[in-house]
Amino acid sequence: MTDMKYKRVLMKLSGEALAGEKGQGINLDTVSEIAQDLKEVHDLGTQIAIVVGGGNLWRGEPAAQVGMERSRADYTGMLGTTMNALVLQDALERAGVDTRVQTAITMQQIAEPYIRGRAIRHLEKGRIVIFAAGTGSPYFSTDTTAALRANEINADAILMGKNGVDGIYDSDPNKNANAVKFSELTHLDILKRGLKVMDSTASSLSMDNNMPLVVFNLNTPGNLKRVVLGENIGTTVTG
Ligand code: UDP
Repeated sequence: MTDMKYKRVLMKLSGEALAGEKGQGINLDTVSEIAQDLKEVHDLGTQIAIVVGGGNLWRGEPAAQVGMERSRADYTGMLGTTMNALVLQDALERAGVDTRVQTAITMQQIAEPYIRGRAIRHLEKGRIVIFAAGTGSPYFSTDTTAALRANEINADAILMGKNGVDGIYDSDPNKNANAVKFSELTHLDILKRGLKVMDSTASSLSMDNNMPLVVFNLNTPGNLKRVVLGENIGTTVTG
């Protein structure tokens, strides 16, 4: 078997990653490309759980800012993540990977409810498990969901694929040509410097539980495999 650095990973896929160039909605070709990358890593024998975001379809906070009740706006966002989960599930199944979707809000006609033990069993059986509907609670994010689920399933790391950015920089590399990339950081560094990687709840949860995070560029095919095999192509964040 190939020597893997990470044997069980929690992949955080933002909604934007599924949107392609438009940055909004769902681009089925883009989703198929991501599914191929995931299949490649799955074929190595890596156990993969995925938390999908929903920002390509809806975000609760901006809707609340223009008058919508915040919790209802957030529940709408959680439904958006579930749409993304079903589309991703379909692409993975078409690629020949066995999958299960588990939702934090019960929707028994379309997916299993989130049950930790069952999720772990699916992983052990070689199924990719997609966690949808975030934490099931408003005021949280899918980054926090990723930190929470990664700890719950005893993942070796959270892998965070970014769109076109190859790691964590000291300032926005799209705006500042002199931005410097970090190859290693701690969660505390991120919190202290206010770096925009995960939200602070997700960073705190990861720091308190020593959960490593790897940030890398998802847009280059094969990068996910390189990360799992231990190549430091992005930024590795440790406790
Ligand atoms: N959301 C929530 N609770 C959660 C996870 C998500 O209320 O535990 C809502 C929130 O409104 C958020 C939206 O779902 O704006 C989409 O999730 P997120 O913004 O994390 O998606 P991403 O940025 O990763 O695409």
